[in-house]
Amino acid sequence: MNTTPARNLISLPRAMLLGIVSLAPLASPAAAQTTPSATASPATTTETIRSRGFAKYSKDSAFRPYEFDRHAVGEHDILIDILYAGICHSDIHHALEDWRKEEYPMVPGHEIVGRIAQVGGKVTKFKVGDHAGVGCMVNSCRSCENCGNHEEQYCDRRVMTYASKDHYHGGLMTQGGYSDRIVLSQDFAIKVPEGAELDKVAPLLCAGITTYSPIRHTKIGKGDKVAVAGFGGLGHMAVQYAVKLGAEVTVFDITEDKRQDALSMGAAKYVNVNTSDELKGLDNTFRVLISTIPAKYDMAMYVKMLRLDGDLVVLGLPAMRDQPSVDAATLVFQSRRRVWGSQIGGIKETQEMLDYSVANRIYPRVEIIPFSKLDEAYQRVLKGEVKFRYVIDNSTLDASWRAANAAPAQPGQPK
Ligand SMILES: [Zn+2]
Ligand SMILES: [Zn+2]
Repeated sequence: MNTTPARNLISLPRAMLLGIVSLAPLASPAAAQTTPSATASPATTTETIRSRGFAKYSKDSAFRPYEFDRHAVGEHDILIDILYAGICHSDIHHALEDWRKEEYPMVPGHEIVGRIAQVGGKVTKFKVGDHAGVGCMVNSCRSCENCGNHEEQYCDRRVMTYASKDHYHGGLMTQGGYSDRIVLSQDFAIKVPEGAELDKVAPLLCAGITTYSPIRHTKIGKGDKVAVAGFGGLGHMAVQYAVKLGAEVTVFDITEDKRQDALSMGAAKYVNVNTSDELKGLDNTFRVLISTIPAKYDMAMYVKMLRLDGDLVVLGLPAMRDQPSVDAATLVFQSRRRVWGSQIGGIKETQEMLDYSVANRIYPRVEIIPFSKLDEAYQRVLKGEVKFRYVIDNSTLDASWRAANAAPAQPGQPK
């Protein structure tokens, strides 16, 4: 196993440059050895970056304009003008405090694509004008075993794209893609291949990699019987990857509305879970079953559908009050079936996913919306009505910002 750090491009945290003591000690001894460059390029700045976005001010608030600071463009950092941002179901779970107590104002969004507006003096991976993508994380320790194995998503000191304390930048809260621009280390940005359909690239950075990674990990291939439970933003990507790799794919969902969509994406079979007849005869069938279901469901039913040595891969994370579970009896009577979860993918694998998706024209089906439709979009995602991903056109920020500021504020909300 390769345990050397994936990269030695360790950005010196701005907090150190500015003399601010970080809230937690740096995990990376290598970072402490890095000395600041005395001759930073003019593109490297020490001023924070003023940004504008749409935020939740509490779990019950509507989205409202919010102005905030991002960390400065360090010598290994890039500044991206955001073009599109996807709306992931996780954004809604965060915004509604379904998983934990959150800090507000919160600007969600971890499916981001944009154009690079500024690069730090030591940036080599990108130049101004390039297109770049940002997914769920913006930094990690770069020195633990998982970072060394290109699995930064499992680093204990990773920094998520929003709602995360950035301990490499003085504990500043990160804010996501429902905004005009973002600053991050070049190492955590993904190169967007030439000719990519930019409005459809954004959701690949979470929904794409979250499904691609376990599909690769389980080595799904020709003739494998694979099932995808939950046919939404993640599910429709999982179906497309598995079909492309030659699997025979069965889709489970709770509505009739998506049957034709599943079949048109190459699924062999669509099962409406609310129709008991369709559920018959499926026990001991699938080698891999990928669950993207974001609500409470009967997990044991799906374990029974696995064949011996099959995998139930859990990607959807329902609210804490709605957690599904499997009891010991199910595991013993259905012996040697594995149940495990997976989170996004590492940066190297995310680049591989994006290159693969664009080369094979595997994209999400998207509905483009302005910022002014954010609240409505959240409601429709919760009702399972979106086909299949809302993507915000970030060029609508100015107009939506002006309109929101002209409207009377709701009680308890700052203008
Ligand atoms: Zn997501
Ligand atoms: Zn690490």
